[in-house]
Amino acid sequence: MTFHQLGLSAELLRAVTEQGYSEPTPIQAQAIPVVLSGLDVLAGAQTGTGKTAGFTLPLLQRLHGSAQAGGRRPVRALVLTPTRELAAQVGDSIHCYGKYLPLRSTTIFGGVPLRPQIATLRKGVDILVATPGRLLDHVGQKTLDLSQVEILVLDEADRMLDMGFINDIRKILALLPKQRQNLLFSATFSSKIKQLADSFLVSPRLIEVARRNTTAEHVQQAVYQVDKSRKRELLSNLIGAESWPQVLVFTRTKHGANRLTSQLEKDGIKATAIHGNKSQGARTKALAEFKNAQVRVLVATDIAARGLDIDQLACVVNYELPNVPEDYVHRIGRTGRAGRSGMAISLVSADEIKLQRDIEALLGGKLPKMVAKGYELTANHVACEDQRTAPRKARSERKIPGSRQRSGRRSFAGGRNSERTAAGRSSSARSV
Ligand code: AMP
Repeated sequence: MTFHQLGLSAELLRAVTEQGYSEPTPIQAQAIPVVLSGLDVLAGAQTGTGKTAGFTLPLLQRLHGSAQAGGRRPVRALVLTPTRELAAQVGDSIHCYGKYLPLRSTTIFGGVPLRPQIATLRKGVDILVATPGRLLDHVGQKTLDLSQVEILVLDEADRMLDMGFINDIRKILALLPKQRQNLLFSATFSSKIKQLADSFLVSPRLIEVARRNTTAEHVQQAVYQVDKSRKRELLSNLIGAESWPQVLVFTRTKHGANRLTSQLEKDGIKATAIHGNKSQGARTKALAEFKNAQVRVLVATDIAARGLDIDQLACVVNYELPNVPEDYVHRIGRTGRAGRSGMAISLVSADEIKLQRDIEALLGGKLPKMVAKGYELTANHVACEDQRTAPRKARSERKIPGSRQRSGRRSFAGGRNSERTAAGRSSSARSV
């Protein structure tokens, strides 16, 4: 299958070729023809599958095909995303894939001044990418008219619901013309997503590329069970010993992200944090520094990391396991993208073993265990764990891609009392 066979125009094929894509990913092969035909779509695809191009390319083609010459440009396509970062990334994709088409797009989200966005909207854009809250701010101020929208995309709809955007989404749906094409993308299909889909999709084509609630095939996963107080030291050691060029580390709280960042810096590892308490400017700066490899470790909370698209991210570390097992799937989806291999390491303390089990239940198999010599869980914790897991051991289990040295032992020169670690050595509208 080639992009050419999918019926894309010469301008889009040129942009795709410039991106270096040789063939469509499965979601693109399935979604592009359906979207081009004007049907509604309900797509189950997680980040990393190429879903953005899967809806952006045909959307651009449809808008271009029905473009009206001259005059005011009403918003004809609306893409809603849960986070600012994802909005920015989708905006960049539209800009990149549409560079040879005479369409205009802009991205609007909160945390930045409203006025420049108003000026851009006033000049007219064909495609608007937005987060729900800021979109409604503009509607409230009468600086945005959505009455001409022909195509609506809800990207990462499951995250939007998790983040409590359901009422905003309903308000926005009520502002759109009844006759339109709807595309809903979601990594998971909960009953709430199904309910939402039923409420506005019309005879949608169901497209599913990754099996529900499964983790990316290309991601090698491993768990280190370790005392909470020793996680930071183990992380520093792993970064150095494994020579990970860059790591995205997840913490559960904003405060935890800040604290870990400064501890890593003390260990001589350049790190920065990204979370909801930071201004949009600080978040953009942190992401840019990570992308340019100026910093080695990006410490993030779940919400801040949603939708981050970082090319060639080799390793994700769960410094703390998420409370919601589905978030594990989202987190590790940051690595192993578009066919590349990746690694997802989880540092699990005794109080998180229950969370580990919940994740394993969701994935349908055990996560491979690794042991870092000198960092094992202390004896009483291990005893408790063995007692609890003993009856489960006999069950047949699905194989989850494991670490290179599954259940292996790793030893560090450092060990329990070592202070220094191995690692220490070592918004305007644009033509789219
Ligand atoms: P997404 O799932 O949309 O976040 O895309 C994940 C990554 O895959 C992005 O970095 C894209 O640039 C990349 N990508 C998208 N389509 C292709 C393709 N057909 N071939 C190779 N890489 C792709």
